[in-house]
Amino acid sequence: TSASTTTSLGSRYATELPDLALPWQAAETPEPRLLLLNKALAADLGLDPAWLHTDEGIGMLTGTVVPPGATPVAQAYAGHQFGGYSPRLGDGRALLMGEVTGPGGELRDLHLKGSGRTPFSRGGDGFAAVGPMLREYVVSEAMNALGIPTTRSLAVVATGRPVRREAVLPGAVLARVASSHLRVGTFQYARSTGDTDLLRRLADHAIARHHPAAADAETPYVAFFESVMQAQAELVAQWMLIGFVHGVMNTDNMTISGETIDYGPCAFIDAFDPATVFSSIDEQGRYAFGNQPIVAGWNLARFAESILPLLADTEEAAVEVATASLQTFRDRYSAAWTAGMHAKLGVAHAPEELVSDLVALMRDNHVDHTSFFRGLGAAARGDLEPARALVLDLAAFDAWSERWLALSPDADAMDRVNPAYVPRNHLVEQALTAATSGDLGPVERLLEVLAAPYDVRPGLEDYAEPAPDSFGRYTTFCGT
Ligand code: AMP
Ligand code: MG
Ligand code: MG
Repeated sequence: TSASTTTSLGSRYATELPDLALPWQAAETPEPRLLLLNKALAADLGLDPAWLHTDEGIGMLTGTVVPPGATPVAQAYAGHQFGGYSPRLGDGRALLMGEVTGPGGELRDLHLKGSGRTPFSRGGDGFAAVGPMLREYVVSEAMNALGIPTTRSLAVVATGRPVRREAVLPGAVLARVASSHLRVGTFQYARSTGDTDLLRRLADHAIARHHPAAADAETPYVAFFESVMQAQAELVAQWMLIGFVHGVMNTDNMTISGETIDYGPCAFIDAFDPATVFSSIDEQGRYAFGNQPIVAGWNLARFAESILPLLADTEEAAVEVATASLQTFRDRYSAAWTAGMHAKLGVAHAPEELVSDLVALMRDNHVDHTSFFRGLGAAARGDLEPARALVLDLAAFDAWSERWLALSPDADAMDRVNPAYVPRNHLVEQALTAATSGDLGPVERLLEVLAAPYDVRPGLEDYAEPAPDSFGRYTTFCGT
């Protein structure tokens, strides 16, 4: 079917990079039902929320209705998964519907997840379940409200199709929006074709969309590489500062734009511990909380390898340039993280030891990350108790806080960067369990709370509390 509305989607990716885009169509949806619609994001994209509620609008949100001009495609990409290289991953259960053009001419992808099998599906069924798609909606919108670059969620539509997992679950399609879906794995795929012209066209497309300043540099592709590296250094620093564990930092899940993507087994830490792992399949702790900056550097090395032919005229020179650039990652990350820690502590500068002693204190005392930093805001106003109550070693806390308070921290500034509310694991689980059995109320309330994570409101105390002990150890699952 073709949409008769004015909603139009571009097909720039499909047109510019046909070698990386297979035209494809979504599976039919037996009984589609709109579960969540992000009205603010729809308006932002120039989409009429009332139209999105119609059969035709819901059709576009599931891919069964294709707007004029659009060419839905499954995107090709490769990737290192847990360190092992897969030459052909690609959109196995997703489709790029096309691009929406913003008022400034910027493009944003409208992309569907759970829309059926594609030529990249391998053994998978191409579908997704309601719970995990709502989970991506909740966590990605929370990340956006926290000020962290991320893909966005436009809608979740239940399809009426049962999907077979460990149990039979209701199926859904997530409509997501991103500044693009270019990944490190997209470059790995392009490189593996041996076609340097394709690799260059891909890089030029990425530069135009995400790193336009690189085009004016003396060596544009080196500047492009460094710009991606900078964006990822800043992104991963923000994850570390907020207590976010991505959980599956494969190279196909790392964007060129610097947006967080693919909310599968991700979760927020409660007790501060760099060794925290939630994902059931991450047995070695490769993607543990404290490993994320190291993994980001490893992934960027794979990115550098994939664009070597663009970095210099000879391979030897290219390796030299890439190696020198990669060595700056550690400093880029440290600078971003340190600036963020200073902001969390409400100070313009702090002695390095003050920060490292705090990290040790938090680790040794397993403090609840979110409550502790929010509590430090109260401490800066003279009420030490909320933070102090989270620490066992009171002498260590008192000695540390005395040194910190001597720097006259700005409590109001702290409250703007230390959230009161994050998507705590027990709250997300409760909300998804209710939704899967038909009650969307808890998900909607949670979304409301998380939309303003820095504003403490009365009556929301339960949303700011750590999980009760009875919740136990939290485990997450990919690919459901
Ligand atoms: P992820 O770990 O979610 O980033 O997915 C890794 C790869 O597996 C991607 O190529 C996905 O498209 C593919 N994939 C995940 N789940 C399914 C599924 N149910 N059916 C087909 N492909 C899938
Ligand atoms: Mg992925
Ligand atoms: Mg995924």
